[in-house]
Formats: sequence, structure tokens, C-alpha cells
Amino acid sequence: MTPPASASLRLHPSTARAYRCTCGAQVFFRNNTCLQCGRALGFDPWLGQVLAIEPDAEPGVWHAVAPQGSESGDAPLQRYRRCAQMGTPALCNWLVRDDGSIGAADCSCVACRLNRVIPDLGLERNHEPWRKVELARRRLVSQLIGLGLPVEPLSEDGGPGGLVFDTLVSLPGQAQVLTGHAQGVITLNLAEADDAYREQVRSQMREPYRTLLGHYRHEVGHHFWDRLVRNDPCLQGFRALFGDEQQDYAAALNAHYQQGAPPGWSGAYISSYASAHPWEDWAETWAHYLHMRDTLDTAVSFGMAPDEVDVDALHYLPSVLQEEPSPEAEVFLAMLNAWTRLTAVLNELSRSMGLPDFYPFVLSDTVVRKLHFVHGRVEPFERTT
Ligand SMILES: [Zn+2]
Ligand SMILES: [Zn+2]
Ligand SMILES: [Zn+2]
Repeated sequence: MTPPASASLRLHPSTARAYRCTCGAQVFFRNNTCLQCGRALGFDPWLGQVLAIEPDAEPGVWHAVAPQGSESGDAPLQRYRRCAQMGTPALCNWLVRDDGSIGAADCSCVACRLNRVIPDLGLERNHEPWRKVELARRRLVSQLIGLGLPVEPLSEDGGPGGLVFDTLVSLPGQAQVLTGHAQGVITLNLAEADDAYREQVRSQMREPYRTLLGHYRHEVGHHFWDRLVRNDPCLQGFRALFGDEQQDYAAALNAHYQQGAPPGWSGAYISSYASAHPWEDWAETWAHYLHMRDTLDTAVSFGMAPDEVDVDALHYLPSVLQEEPSPEAEVFLAMLNAWTRLTAVLNELSRSMGLPDFYPFVLSDTVVRKLHFVHGRVEPFERTT
């Protein structure tokens, strides 16, 4: 069957992932200097672009270099400052838009402002893991902004809606730091940045996939459940698909760790852990949705066209959603079908390298409906951006 055209996806990734310096060289999300021309680079999260920048006459202020051959015109130049965390092991390359009111002293970018507790950077052993954590966190935040989702820091009084990150180190003789979310606070155990540790836990827990970015996408899913579902009319729809979240959370998790996932769990859940409790099901599904969106955006940004690969992949028809057809559902299905085609090829590429599958998941019809439910919560933000 011929897949439906997904031209809009091909032309408009929500989060651009391929960038070029004004000299024409390809540059990357993490770069702060162009290796070809030596220009300084910075990421503007609101534009979603890595920009070549040059210093203004005023110390500490930068502006974007005009692309070669462009007319600069009379438009005032956007003033930028570099994030204060660029000079730290975080190596943050993000830019802060300066309306003239920001001083150099407290100039953290939108992503770094969300950090509340960070590891002791006086200890050199924390530098490398912190760099990895921060790169993953910036990737997360850039995608949330690209999708139009709110990313405001948690207020001092802990009022609803805000978000902060605590990155903690487990100390001998003290309780192990648990990665998790509670009322807008996302806690990460810094040990998760250690590949050997993370792989050991992944293997013990029999997880097919465990990464820093995956942790962040899962935990921020709990935050967005609070924001987008808890007090929303969609709560009934949520319960119909994911189950009643009012069941005892601690008891449900305990039962999951004692007995494991129910037989046949993959017919209804994206992962075995998702079967533990409706909140975990939501967080796992939400994380998966963000994986799909970012990876597809990356493929599209680099000019890949999933519709044009010669592969027989799973193809979902509108009937899978069990609801009236709508333009929104059409966009979702086009994205999902592009995704199954892309990942079918990526898995073959992994096998050619003798690596584990790039995408070790199969999406059952129920999981597709859950992903569609997540899409329905995100899409209104995207539309108004
Ligand atoms: Zn350059
Ligand atoms: Zn920063
Ligand atoms: Zn969770």
C-alpha cells in the first residue's frame, strides 16, 4: 500500500536539528565555535537555531552574524549574552536574549535556569558526567520549547506549573539517590551518566533502552501529566485508555517489582514498566512520543524522506484510532507511519553493524491509541507557537 504523503512533516520539523554556520559549514547542537571559520556559535532556543555570533561594541553582548549576501536593513540587531554556564563543565552554548536589562553577573539560559541542585563541580570526577547530563537536559528542553510546551522554573513557593532539576550524587552510608519526579522537581542520580553503571542497571531491570535523555523524557512526562491531564476534561479519556490513576501507587509499584509485568503486557504497554501504574504508563508513552518526534525531526532536518525508503513496514490505518477521522489524526498517523518506515531501516542498519536494534519496540494498536492521546495533549501547544 502506498503510504499517505507527509510533505508537511518533511518540510517543517518542529525542532530543527541540522544547523549551518554563516560560512556554510555544518555545525551541531553542542558546538560553541565553527571549526571551519572559527566564528563563535550559540544556540537560540526560541529560534531553535545554532547561530554564528560576533561581539558587540558593548562588552559581554553579542549579535548574530548576518548570513553572507544578505541585506542587514534597518532592523535592530537582537542583543544576546552567552549563558554563564558556558565557562563551566556544563559547556552550555545557549544564548540569552538581552533586552538591555540583564547583567553579565546572573545570565543563565532558559535551560540552566531550571537547575536547582547541581553536583559539586569542585570535584573533577563530577565534570564529565555533568557535561553529559547537561547535554541531554538541553536536548530535552530544546524539544519542549520547539513543541511550544511551557518550561518555567518552579517558583520559590513551589506553586503549580513550574519545573526544576536536582542532580544528586549518592554518598556512601546514605540512601541511594532515586531518579524521579515529585511536584515539578525532577531528580536525577548523577551515576546514570556513567555508562557502565547505567548498562548494569539496564541489564538487571531487563530494559531494552536506558539513557539520560530517556530518563528526562520520562520524568518530565510526570510533570506534564500534572499540567495537562490532572485537572483537565481529558482525564476521563485518560482513564479509559491508561486506567484509573487513583489506585495505590506505592502498592502498584511494589507489586510490579515483586511479580513483574503481566503476561502479554506488550499488547497494551510500550514497556513492561509501563504496566506498573497508569502514571508510569503515561510517562513511558510520553517519553516514547518525544523520542519519535525528535528522531523524526532530525531525519527530516537532514533531508531524509521516510516515505521514499524501500521497506515493508507496519502501516497503521485510521481505523486503529477508533474515532472519527480528523485532520489532527491524519497528521498523527502520517508521522507514525513515517516513523515505522524510518525505524525499520535503522534497525537493519544496526544489524549490519552488529549492534543491538536501534529501535527495540513494537507498537500495538492500544499503544498507538495511547500515543495519539499524548499527541492530542501536545498538538494544541504546537499549533499556537
Ligand atoms: Zn563557520
Ligand atoms: Zn545555559
Ligand atoms: Zn515514572
